[in-house]
Amino acid sequence: MAVEAKNTIVEPIVKAFDCLHFIDGKFVPSVDGKTFNNVNPVTEEVYGTVAEGSKADIDLAVAAAKRAFEEGPWGKMSVQERSKIIRKVGDILEARQEEIAQLESLDTGKHLKFSRHVDAPRAAANFHFFADYMISVGTEAFQDEVHGAINYGYRRPIGVVGLIQPWNLPLFLLTWKLAPALAAGCTVVIKPSELTPMTATKLMEIMKEAGVPDGVVNIVHGFGQGAGSAINKHPDIAGIGFIGQVSTGAKIMEEASKTLKKLSFELGGKNPNIIFADVDIDEVVETTIKSSFTNQGEVCVCGENIFVQRSIYDEFVEKLAARTRQLKVGNPFDMAYDQGALVAKVHYDKVMSYFKIAEEEGATFVTGGKRPEGLDKGYFVEPTIITGLEYGARCTREEIFGPVVSIIPFDTEEEVIAMANDTRVGLSNTIWTNDIRRAHRVAQSIESGLSYINCWFVRDLRTPFGGTKDSGLGRVGGVHSWEFYTEITNICVKL
Ligand code: NAD
Repeated sequence: MAVEAKNTIVEPIVKAFDCLHFIDGKFVPSVDGKTFNNVNPVTEEVYGTVAEGSKADIDLAVAAAKRAFEEGPWGKMSVQERSKIIRKVGDILEARQEEIAQLESLDTGKHLKFSRHVDAPRAAANFHFFADYMISVGTEAFQDEVHGAINYGYRRPIGVVGLIQPWNLPLFLLTWKLAPALAAGCTVVIKPSELTPMTATKLMEIMKEAGVPDGVVNIVHGFGQGAGSAINKHPDIAGIGFIGQVSTGAKIMEEASKTLKKLSFELGGKNPNIIFADVDIDEVVETTIKSSFTNQGEVCVCGENIFVQRSIYDEFVEKLAARTRQLKVGNPFDMAYDQGALVAKVHYDKVMSYFKIAEEEGATFVTGGKRPEGLDKGYFVEPTIITGLEYGARCTREEIFGPVVSIIPFDTEEEVIAMANDTRVGLSNTIWTNDIRRAHRVAQSIESGLSYINCWFVRDLRTPFGGTKDSGLGRVGGVHSWEFYTEITNICVKL
């Protein structure tokens, strides 16, 4: 893929900075003074350091969160008062959108077009949504006429919550967990991904400006084995909201089991796009470009397996390939490009390793399968379309989480449902057909938490979100988030 030099580079208004922990309202180094390097995914240069947390830092953060919950004003505030502060966080994020978007692109390598359009506005929207939602949600009540009693549910926050975060949509996903936790009245200890610490750190400034009291939100940076594991085991943490890989979820569950924490997991997937022959191919190609390569394919609901009914298979492959070749990969701050870099070397190496596996499995690379020509530095990968693999090959089964899709033909509805269900991870799927009965029938037959019919990545924040089988635990969104961050007491009153 050629790299064209055009002078359309956005003037940066942000700079990389060193990230400290944020404990009890103050930015602090690690107790033992340890740090690690933050690497720019575009230049491969170290552009900052990050405090490396351990058990000692988590202990301080949990103690601050516990004090804020038990003694501070947060737990005693009405939901209306909390909602005002949470709304203000959203307002500040909205006012500083360009800065947030640039910082996210700097830290992750993702293109600014995406962080402007999705990451930054959605972070603000998460706070606005939960500020409104929590003041309007009701509680359940039952009239028991047999015993002459009424029963109603009384909800209270669960206490201190640990939020362990991934790198792909760092602030978007953090705020998706944090806003409902705060609205419910919990206090929080956050561990951002070690690969993307900057926007979470910036958010702490915004929290302070909005009037969130000290100790309510704390951050400890670091790795899974240190800070992460200390969250899993801490007896004063009541619940963990985790987003990340299936294997990490299993480790967290194992360590957290000793203290019986509540767990909410949003984990990996291998999502099928199912395209029947009765569709408008051009329309499907446009959305499939997005569901394949948005954010360099680093979105948990991207469709990595594209199943296409045989009679339109060749035409679809040709049109998707032609459109894919138009995507330009390069500097995320240059508007001449569409896609940026992958987040880090470790992830770049993983994606590249699948190209070798695909080759060994006998795949054909219709597009991509390599770095873009002319880009010697940075974790850039060409948008890649693979064909010629049977469903069951490793590239069709394992989550690659990069700009890589496999296209696989099918003949019948039964056959494609069987392939879509033959996986341990059922997060989302996309179904394309103009036959309304078939659309519903297929959506109801596939074991996944989310089904998009003739669309993709369209979210109503009130609806349940989460995965089936090994792809998650519980649901989030609207009332589902509220249920996770609160305990309910049934109060039975004899009249
Ligand atoms: P990861 O599991 O490697 O890391 C996520 C977080 O867990 C990081 O902060 C990491 O430091 C921490 N961690 C690692 N080991 C730990 C341990 N033993 N105890 C506690 N914490 C630990 O995931 P990742 O690579 O950052 O994220 C990519 C994955 O996230 C993909 O699988 C993707 O599908 C998934 N994801 C899922 C959703 C969803 O909504 N289902 C959304 C985004 C990403």
